[in-house]
Amino acid sequence: MSKRGRLIAGLAALAVASTAGVVAATRGDHGSPGAGAAVAVEATPKGASDADKAARKREVDVLLAQRATAVLKGDLKGFLAIVDPKQPALVSEQRTLFTNLREFPFTKLNYFVDAEREAPAVVAKYGAGTFSVRVMMRYQLTGLDNAPVQTDLGYSLTRRDNRWVLVSDTALDEYLSRDGHRQPWDYGEISVTRRDNVVVVVEKAEATLGAQIARSSQGAVDAVLRHWSRPWNGAVMVVAMREPQVMSLLWTAGRGDGWTIAAKAVSLYDGEPLGLKTTAPVGARIVVNPAYRKRTDEDLLVHEMTHVATASMNHRTPIWLVEGLAEYVRCRSIEDDPHWTVDPYRKRVRSKYLPSLKALPTTADFDANSDRAYGLSWWTTEYLAATKGTKALTALYADLSAHNTTPVAYETIIKRHTGKTPTALAAAVKNWRG
Ligand SMILES: [Zn+2]
Repeated sequence: MSKRGRLIAGLAALAVASTAGVVAATRGDHGSPGAGAAVAVEATPKGASDADKAARKREVDVLLAQRATAVLKGDLKGFLAIVDPKQPALVSEQRTLFTNLREFPFTKLNYFVDAEREAPAVVAKYGAGTFSVRVMMRYQLTGLDNAPVQTDLGYSLTRRDNRWVLVSDTALDEYLSRDGHRQPWDYGEISVTRRDNVVVVVEKAEATLGAQIARSSQGAVDAVLRHWSRPWNGAVMVVAMREPQVMSLLWTAGRGDGWTIAAKAVSLYDGEPLGLKTTAPVGARIVVNPAYRKRTDEDLLVHEMTHVATASMNHRTPIWLVEGLAEYVRCRSIEDDPHWTVDPYRKRVRSKYLPSLKALPTTADFDANSDRAYGLSWWTTEYLAATKGTKALTALYADLSAHNTTPVAYETIIKRHTGKTPTALAAAVKNWRG
């Protein structure tokens, strides 16, 4: 069991969204008027009028629409038309971006200007007429996304030969959402492997790894389909790149030295990418910790695949059930193979964690002792599946995801499906030997 039995951790969708909100707020603070803004005022003594800004927004939107069309049609020349020809490095980066984007079939792709943002450094470098805009990329990947999702990027443009040219795409990075301009296609050249509905993205030099992960991913999808009764098309993107900046994820959690996260399911939304999300996500991607990418096996992926399969249902579902179900499916899939068992995990939960169980694990419990919290969440889910059946487990999950809006609603739903209060449920789980 030591080979496959290590604890695989990923954060619930809600926790990821909250983290993104916190980071976004910090980044926003960097944008407050200060020394940098003062420089911008000096560099553009008159500043652009609102009418000027509206006019150039319209003009840039036209250029962005041409860019999107160029991606969809495979028109490299059209894609690069906006790029400053005097910057070979930028042209080369943009060519790589085009090559990478062409690896994905898009059902939809639009770029449009959100709003202008101050970026004094590019004004100082490229002249007073330079301005920067936060740009939305709204897209839907064919076979992966059921609906469009959004991410953001930042473009700086200047006037040259009576037209706007793109001089930088990094000046606004600090204003963007956590994974804005940090998508898998935003770095070096990638390799994309498809296997049924699974899409695996790795760096081009690691294409062999991509093929291996695609096989493990397919096995993981099959495992989820065996143990989770809700319909799911098994469409998922797994990103396993060496580049640590992709999706800007932190790989440690908890207090003190914390614990290392092997992979995460990252939620995707259609709408403003910045700030705390209040709506259900549209979908999810699995991102593997770069340090673990060469050990991305089926065991690691099953847990995260479960989060993807339930992505649109995790918004209001308590963390003990979101993580408990992922562990439940993982453990069940391990024991589908008669040569493997999770008995050591069972024993650990029974002897080490159950005696101290007083309430179902909360986010604070996961931070304080993740092994214990994952173990108890798993045990609770096993209890529900064993005593109520998997259909009832699914019904409970669906009810919580839709209606768990207040503590009173939570208690009502738990009672409706288990016949017990949350406290009584915890007591029953504590006494259950499996
Ligand atoms: Zn998880």
